[in-house]
Order: sequence, then structure tokens, then C-alpha cells
Amino acid sequence: MKINKDYLNLSENYLFSEIAKRVKAYSEENPEKKIIKLGIGDVTKPIAAPIMEALEKAVSEMGDSKTFRGYAPDLGYSFLRNAIAESDYKARGCDIDPDEIFVSDGAKSDCGNIQEIFDKDNVVAVTDPVYPVYVDSNIMAGRKIIYMPCIKENNFVPELPTEKADIIYLCFPNNPTGTVITKDKLQEFVDYARKNDAVIIYDAAYEAYINDPSIPHSIYECEGAKEVAIELHSFSKNAGFTGLRLGYAVVPKALVREGVSLNHLWARRHSTKYNGAPYIVQRAGEAVYSPEGKLAVKKQVGEYMENAAFIRKSLIDLGYEVYGGENAPYIWLRAPFDMSGWDFFDLLLKRANVVGTPGEGFGKFGAGYFRLTAFGDSENTREAIERIKAL
Ligand SMILES: *Cc1c(COP(=O)(O)O)cnc(C)c1O
Repeated sequence: MKINKDYLNLSENYLFSEIAKRVKAYSEENPEKKIIKLGIGDVTKPIAAPIMEALEKAVSEMGDSKTFRGYAPDLGYSFLRNAIAESDYKARGCDIDPDEIFVSDGAKSDCGNIQEIFDKDNVVAVTDPVYPVYVDSNIMAGRKIIYMPCIKENNFVPELPTEKADIIYLCFPNNPTGTVITKDKLQEFVDYARKNDAVIIYDAAYEAYINDPSIPHSIYECEGAKEVAIELHSFSKNAGFTGLRLGYAVVPKALVREGVSLNHLWARRHSTKYNGAPYIVQRAGEAVYSPEGKLAVKKQVGEYMENAAFIRKSLIDLGYEVYGGENAPYIWLRAPFDMSGWDFFDLLLKRANVVGTPGEGFGKFGAGYFRLTAFGDSENTREAIERIKAL
């Protein structure tokens, strides 16, 4: 028996464990200090009432022989796939068929699993800084990875790859930088993919945070994108499903490579290795698209964005160099005085008792930057900023 040696090429996933270690050491020495965490990318608001009602109703159905449901359809219940096609696509002028939507347990699994339908020899392009799952899942598969720097000189939007890429991961609004891509720039990537026979995996996990009406919510707003792009969505950051688990992937039927429909390949993979998201969670997902659900989700996102605006403005007023936070729940700031992200982390932890995330954890070009999230409650967020002001 031999192990998959590609796993040995993974770098230690030390970012969040190192943060936890430093926070723990500080708290043990200073048990009286109240630490405010604006570091991890998890939401804090409970699931909204109209969504809970749908969930509870579905839970009761499971205990009644008349309404009990067993295995869900592998690719998702029609009630949810139809609601997604209608609200996330048709209402925005994108023509996506419910058959092109694959319901899953979240965007993290999808972005890791989707590359199973691609050959090992493909070259993968990712941004730097990057959401680490894109990199690690492709290292596990033994693929070559190239990096597209996202720096202030390009407004944290990558240039087209200089070396030929076969698979391109893009995430906008971006985690960690909180920045967005214009439709014209996204169109350039779509055109590149068309010309080079590449496939774009577009992670739209933060789509609900877009305020600026000129920013695309979906890659399918671009001309010809259905022939080159897979899009991933999550119910985690808009509706607070980080614990419930629900997401979906769009694989258009027009996406064909080497004469094979990727929609068909993904359907095969999905139905072979996955038995579907729970019925009760899909009912909760359906409620996200009801008029009451939409309103409730919009309100929660709006409250997080008030935090984002507050953090952004306060830090700018204090003279920090700040990016993001306008169409995304992340604020990306430059550590002051040319400090490293880790030195700034230690300074904030020890002198303000505030925890953020050092940019170094997201890649080489994240060095010297720092990520704060708007997912805290508003009182803690305000207190954290007061403490940063007092530094
Ligand atoms: C949070 C996050 C996801 C994960 O979403 P889940 O649906 O909870 O798995 C995917 N992509 C990015 C960039 C994220 O930040």
C-alpha cells in the first residue's frame, strides 16, 4: 500500500492554529482581559425567523409518516433548484436552467471537489492572496499552481495569467481583500478562457454583500461565460448557514471540453459520491428566497455592512491604508510602519486585545497586510475600534 505522496507537498495549515496558540497564551497570562475576535470568517447572527420557521416545519414533517422524506434527489430538490434559478439568475437577466444547478453542502466542498473532473496535468491559476482551499485541494491532486498577484497597484484584481492556465479560480467579492471586480475586467478573464480553452471557477460566496449596482453578482452576466465558467455559491455568509451547511454549483450545459459536457461529468460525480443535502436544510434554503426570507437576509447583511463601513471609516480617519469593506464583509489594511502582518497581530492582541488575521496567512503578497471582518456584533466592533483608536 502506498499513500498519496502529493499530500506531503501541503504546507502546514498553520494560520488559524498559530492565531489560536498566540491568543491562548495571551489569555492565560492575562485572564482578566476581554478579547474581541474580528479574525475568523464566521458569522455571528442567528438564522432569521422566516428561515427558522421553514426549518422547524420541515423537521416536524420528518417525524410524520405522511410527510417523511428519505434520500433526497442527488442533485437537489426541484423546489430549491427552481428558486435559485429564478432569484439568483433569471431575475438578474442570466439564463440558467434548474438542471444546471447542483445543490451541495457548501462552497468549500464544491471548490475542493470540482477539480476531480479535470485531468491532473492542467495548470491551475489562483490569486495571491488566496482562499487556501483552492491551493491545497489542487496540491492534493498533484497539479501545478501558478499565482496571479493581487496588490494595491492593480487594486487587488489580478492581471491575466502570463503563463497559459487551464483552470482559473476567481473569488469576488474577495476573501481576504474585500475587493471587487468590474464587469469589464471579469469579461477579460472570460475572453481569456474562451481563447485558451480554460475553465474559470468563480466563487461568489460573498455576492450578497455587493452594494454598487455596477458590480457583477454572477460571472454569467459576462458575454459567453456559460461556455467557460462554473460558479459556486454558499448560503453561509448571506443567511448564516455556516453550521447548517448548504451551497450550490452551477455547471452550464454549454460548458463542453473535448466533446464532453462538464454538466454531465459533474452530475455523475455528484450522484456517485454524494447523497444530497438534508431535506430540512434545503427547505430552509428555499425560505431564503421567499419574500420574508429575502428581507430578513438583506437586513442581516446590511447590519454586517454597517460594521464594515464603521471599521473602514474609522481606520481611514486614523490614517490607516484601508481597502475593501464596501462590497464585502472584509477590511484589508496595511500594517502601519512597515510592520509585518504578524507583528501587527501581536501589537493588536497585546495592546488592544483585538484579534484579526495576518495577511501572510493568505500568501506571499498578503505580507504586511491584515484582515478584519465585519461579522462581529456591532457593540464589540465599536469597542474594538475604540481600543485601536487608543493605541
Ligand atoms: C466562507 C467561504 C466559502 C465557504 O463556504 P461554505 O459554503 O460554508 O463551505 C467559500 N469560499 C470562500 C471564499 C469563503 O470565504
